[in-house]
Amino acid sequence: MQIQSKLPDVGTTIFTVMSSLAMQYNAVNLGQGFPDFMMSNELIELVNKAMLQGHNQYVHSNGLPILRERIAEKCSKLYSSNIDVDKQITITPGGTYAIYTALTTVLHAGDEVIVFEPAYDCYIPNIVINGAKPVLISLQYPHYSIPWNEVRAKVNSKTKMIIINSPHNPTGAVLTKNDMEELRNIVANTNIFILSDEVYEHLIYDDLQHESIVRYPDLLERSFVCFSFGKTYHCTGWKMGYCISSAALMSEFRKVHQFNCFSVDSPKQFALAAYLKNEEAYLSLSTIMQEKRNYFRTLMQATPFKCIPSHGSYFECYSYDGLSNLNEKDFAIHLTKAYGVTTIPVSAFYKNEEDNKAIRFCFAKKEETLELAAERLMQFKG
Ligand code: GLN
Repeated sequence: MQIQSKLPDVGTTIFTVMSSLAMQYNAVNLGQGFPDFMMSNELIELVNKAMLQGHNQYVHSNGLPILRERIAEKCSKLYSSNIDVDKQITITPGGTYAIYTALTTVLHAGDEVIVFEPAYDCYIPNIVINGAKPVLISLQYPHYSIPWNEVRAKVNSKTKMIIINSPHNPTGAVLTKNDMEELRNIVANTNIFILSDEVYEHLIYDDLQHESIVRYPDLLERSFVCFSFGKTYHCTGWKMGYCISSAALMSEFRKVHQFNCFSVDSPKQFALAAYLKNEEAYLSLSTIMQEKRNYFRTLMQATPFKCIPSHGSYFECYSYDGLSNLNEKDFAIHLTKAYGVTTIPVSAFYKNEEDNKAIRFCFAKKEETLELAAERLMQFKG
């Protein structure tokens, strides 16, 4: 039997490739983005409790109402929003699923979607599988800012959507108020939708403020905003997230969602609803993770790699320009095999594998993990 592939240009994701290689070579894995420290015991106990109390059957397809209420409360506190709990929030099995569902909800064959590169690796395949076309715009090195003039030039009658991502994976760049103004001007009086990937909303540093779309009611009218509990509570393997949108857009999103996943893990929804009462658990994140970023940066100063500063997410990119002629993917493989440190080549976030001699490190790790990686990188000789 032969399948006519819907994604002929796609192989295995770089995260799986690099994590498998890390295991094979027993390398320190600073590649795929996941914490290696323990999540909250309290949250684990809340899941156990929910299961023992019998919360093991389907909950509502839109998500457990009390969890949606808590999310709306959090948004109101943080972003002064006024979200309708019944109509505007849907719980999803992870942020990636929310992104896929949003794209599938709006895209038709031939539509164009503006994507900024480097781009998180699921965006382009999820556009292509819907028969639409990614229109690529490079972020401006070294701050990875959006060239808004180029966006204006590329918007046309086929533009169906613009994807933004702040804090940004893989660079840790953060959108400013001014960026939101630019975006607002570009989409005003058009039918362009926005997909806003905000899975790192709480991982923001240097006293910057997260410019959530949720802060901007006029933008939210045309947006799908995707969030992740995995990134917030150090449990990426739980695959729990949610999407916030306008009531009209969300009702279409739910049509796609209900026949794909139907309903998300019940005990975890009960647990997350209870745990969200603890504001400190998410508000303290930026301090904890900023310390990790800074610690990693200091350690990396003893290595020959040059920091490309991150202001959010749990990633920081480093340049190996002048240290090797290998392309980024081969260099990342070489670092794993020869030095026992795994990273992600930034080229994996470009459709045409642009080579800037930069690799991405995940610093959401225990101090000893970061120290071991740095010790090994100090030995770097080529
Ligand atoms: N978001 C994670 C990262 O950027 C990976 C998630 C995945 O492996 N799909 O590393």
